[in-house]
Amino acid sequence: MDEAGRLDAPLLLVANRLPLARQRGVWRPSSGGLVTALTPVVARVGGSWVGWDEDAQGVPSRVEGLNVDLHAVDLDPALVEGYYHGFTNRTLWPLFHDLVVQPVIDRSWWRSYETVTRRFADKVSEVIAASPQRPVVWIQDYHLLLLPQLLRDRFPDLRIGMFLHTPFPAPELFARLPWRESLLGGMLAADSLGFHTTQYRDNFLRTVQRIIPDATVLGDSIMREDGRRVRALSHPISIDAEDFGALARDPATDTEVTALREQFEGRKVLLGVDRLDYTKGIRHRLQALELLLEQRPHLRGRFVFVQIAVPSRDDVEEYRRLRTQVETEVGRINGRFTEPGHDVPVHYLHRSIDRTRLAAYYRIADVMCVTPLKDGMNLVAKEFVTVRDATDGDGVLLLSEFCGTAHEFGHDAIRCNPFDVEGLAMLMERALELAPEDRRERIARMAQVVRDNDVFRWVGDELAAITGEEHPG
Ligand code: UDP
Repeated sequence: MDEAGRLDAPLLLVANRLPLARQRGVWRPSSGGLVTALTPVVARVGGSWVGWDEDAQGVPSRVEGLNVDLHAVDLDPALVEGYYHGFTNRTLWPLFHDLVVQPVIDRSWWRSYETVTRRFADKVSEVIAASPQRPVVWIQDYHLLLLPQLLRDRFPDLRIGMFLHTPFPAPELFARLPWRESLLGGMLAADSLGFHTTQYRDNFLRTVQRIIPDATVLGDSIMREDGRRVRALSHPISIDAEDFGALARDPATDTEVTALREQFEGRKVLLGVDRLDYTKGIRHRLQALELLLEQRPHLRGRFVFVQIAVPSRDDVEEYRRLRTQVETEVGRINGRFTEPGHDVPVHYLHRSIDRTRLAAYYRIADVMCVTPLKDGMNLVAKEFVTVRDATDGDGVLLLSEFCGTAHEFGHDAIRCNPFDVEGLAMLMERALELAPEDRRERIARMAQVVRDNDVFRWVGDELAAITGEEHPG
């Protein structure tokens, strides 16, 4: 990279999915932090993106607004079943989230995972062969842990980076995987490995020490027997803070805010925004809410709890079961605490909402409840403080100590242990009662952290690490 942060080679990004969405028959870049952050980088050096086409027909090789060549990996349904619905979603995901549900160990899923990685390696090799200049390869996430090794075998001098978007678990948990050596060996073929926090990075280093006898850990580096040095660094992912600030102040958001304020007039609002995933602690949050309503009768009718639950992985059994449980709990709470002629205490929306409406919900929330049992980072928390800082500067963030964001926000959020349902209920009450001056100071400090460490910084740090110019993480 040069002084302006420009890469000296094209970027080849590899992720499970292509960054595309089809809206009313037209392909567009999907929204999201990674796509936004990469747009300026690839605008300068060009780039390619290799990913699974999700069985969509006619995926284009270019879309307007995204300066990358798209290369689809085609996978047949039986492979997707083992690799995606099985090994990534039911083995790695729960294991990397500290066994919030029990991971399933299935050898046929592992074979699919290996096969799919080879398909990705073949596609990446094709792109490299066709490229006039050797690209820098940046691999995303737990779907592709084996890929660095396959690429290293084929291209010994390739610059390869990998970033893990989930937590990395403690060695005792990772060690349960029958394929632990292969998975670590796969990762260690990269030049740099990025994690959200120093804690996940340190978990990784300790796991390497325990499982790979020929690897020597020196600070944040791992020295391999063949003389190669692999860096393991902490690079917290973030959001485009400026863009979220502008969205918060947009007149379209004002209109939505007015409507929501009317709807919830006279009541405080507690808000949850999560994919419907068992890692997000939605059930514990509802139980805490129920306890609060039970034990503090004077609060009944004084606040409303809004839970936006974005549908997720509903072809996986554990996710379907979670939906039934959450909806049963919402029904029970509303059944118990709704007074005739009055509104329900819990508003539950099982759908995805657009960004304008999401920003409006952030703006009207008195308390944003981000209480995952385990979460690699959690961008909702960063979006909330950014939106509030850009508008009225008010609001309270109730934040689980078990998410990456908690490492950055320290005690400016009201920190909670979401497993402690009674404690969580008490903290919800405390959050509702926090003094206005205190609220403002906390929001301002957290928003400053997000501005100082936005998603562009994350991309810059990651790319600098791959090209060997990283800052210590
Ligand atoms: N989000 C969304 N649609 C919605 C609600 C939320 O696209 O209806 C976005 C939200 O703005 C955030 C992301 O989904 O950027 C969730 O990221 P987070 O890190 O909080 O959790 P993840 O879903 O990645 O586990």
